Amino acid sequence: MIIENRKVVAFHYTLTNERGEELESSRERQPMSYLHGAHNILPGLEKALAGKSAGDHVKVTLPPAEAYGERDPSRMRRIPAKHFNNPRRMRSGQVVTLQTQQGDSVPAVVVKVGRFNIDVDTNHPLAGQTLTFDVEITDVRDASPEEVAHGHAHERGSHHD
Ligand SMILES: [Zn+2]
Repeated sequence: MIIENRKVVAFHYTLTNERGEELESSRERQPMSYLHGAHNILPGLEKALAGKSAGDHVKVTLPPAEAYGERDPSRMRRIPAKHFNNPRRMRSGQVVTLQTQQGDSVPAVVVKVGRFNIDVDTNHPLAGQTLTFDVEITDVRDASPEEVAHGHAHERGSHHD
């Protein structure tokens, strides 16, 4: 069965950056599933998988513009330390959740911990990186009418919402 719109595709992947460092892998968990043609995954990855079938291996390298975008310097924020619960315990590299004045939660990475201020970066952690996906397609099946209506894949036999 060929990957095209309205197929549910399961695959294992390993994600590496341009230095060849492994960032993520699905190998220790279930394969990832998505509904093809519904923009569930990065467009560049979806395009590379079209026309392939179960058992195929696909390696695709995506520049930042086709992955998580360029880093936006305006998304660096300096926040007074007193706005954090435990500023003395914060370390650079730590992921924190910021609350906006509108009440939204925004993930951010701590860049620098100063005495009075904490610098955080709200760019996507993979922004600005060229990413290589090493993919093994494990299954391709027809989507159910319900999956097509929802615009995403469901675990086999289960439902949610
Ligand atoms: Zn659903």
